[in-house]
Amino acid sequence: MSKKVSIGNLTIGGGEKVAVQSMATFKTCTEEAVRQAAELENAGCDILRFSVLDEKDAAAFRELKKAVRMPLVADIHFDHRLAIKAIDGGADKIRINPGNIGGEQCVKAVAEAAKYNGVPIRVGSNTGSIDKEFLTRYGKNEISLAESALKQVAILEKYGVNDIVISVKASSVPLTVKAYEYIAKKTDYPLHLGVTEAGTEYGGVIKNSAALGALLLKGIGDTIRISLSAPPIREVTAAKTLLAALELTTTANLVACPTCGRCEWDCMDFAAKTEKYLSTVSKPIKVAVMGCVVNGPGEAADADVGVAGAKGGCVIFSHGKILKTVKREDLEREFFAEIDKCTR
Ligand code: SF4
Repeated sequence: MSKKVSIGNLTIGGGEKVAVQSMATFKTCTEEAVRQAAELENAGCDILRFSVLDEKDAAAFRELKKAVRMPLVADIHFDHRLAIKAIDGGADKIRINPGNIGGEQCVKAVAEAAKYNGVPIRVGSNTGSIDKEFLTRYGKNEISLAESALKQVAILEKYGVNDIVISVKASSVPLTVKAYEYIAKKTDYPLHLGVTEAGTEYGGVIKNSAALGALLLKGIGDTIRISLSAPPIREVTAAKTLLAALELTTTANLVACPTCGRCEWDCMDFAAKTEKYLSTVSKPIKVAVMGCVVNGPGEAADADVGVAGAKGGCVIFSHGKILKTVKREDLEREFFAEIDKCTR
């Protein structure tokens, strides 16, 4: 099991729930970034990362922290002074590459600021940033990816930093899985999982779900980001849905049938409405939306509450037993009221 690391008011690792992470798309020192942070927190984001490009960005964390409670991460390249300013500005974690932050003295200065303020550091590699030494020795594979990250860890440890989170991302699903499996055997620092440059929403969700699902089911991974070429709120929704599907979360899990010729109502549309309603539910209930009463209640017998289409209306059922028949026009009110009962 990984060791626990505290990031602001959140603890990750050591069997804590897997945290959902995303990254803001607006410049950090803007009003839009503040609004986006609040929107993502409301959607269930647990940790949010921001690019720090200049001093204004580094100083913006104080203002951002007034708007949200979740921990905020400053992502800095090349300039160690910005990392120190972001820590002073209230960032809860920093993400750096010790290899490009300006040399060992600069790493030492950042390490000291992080330790003094109790701020953990994420380091890591991706297929575009593999250390030359390992690239020459092993080629581009899971060993060079993971060893590059471990080299960064060793630099931080040399300066007394022990609150470290590691990532080893690739855009290839098999390579991502192998790299995390490799590094999980070598370290007990918490791991941040992700597939880098995963693509647009549809393909990206599939790639991330394949890689992260395989790892999380083996107990590997403490935070996740479903990185997508899509608005970050879609990353948060996808991450929460993945964790619910893997039964690793306290949010509701929706099952819905694909429909077939037996379906005589707009089951797909109602499944989408139900999914939206469930996004605010923070209890691990199972909810089913099924096409027909012939097979629906039986196929979804383990659902805490479900609905299936019937002649002229719908039946609402619980654990396979029909509770009541309702008219289509009353369905939304009646069904969501039954969901509410399950969450009390
Ligand atoms: S529940 Fe009914 S409508 Fe849905 S797939 Fe099964 S048989 Fe078809």
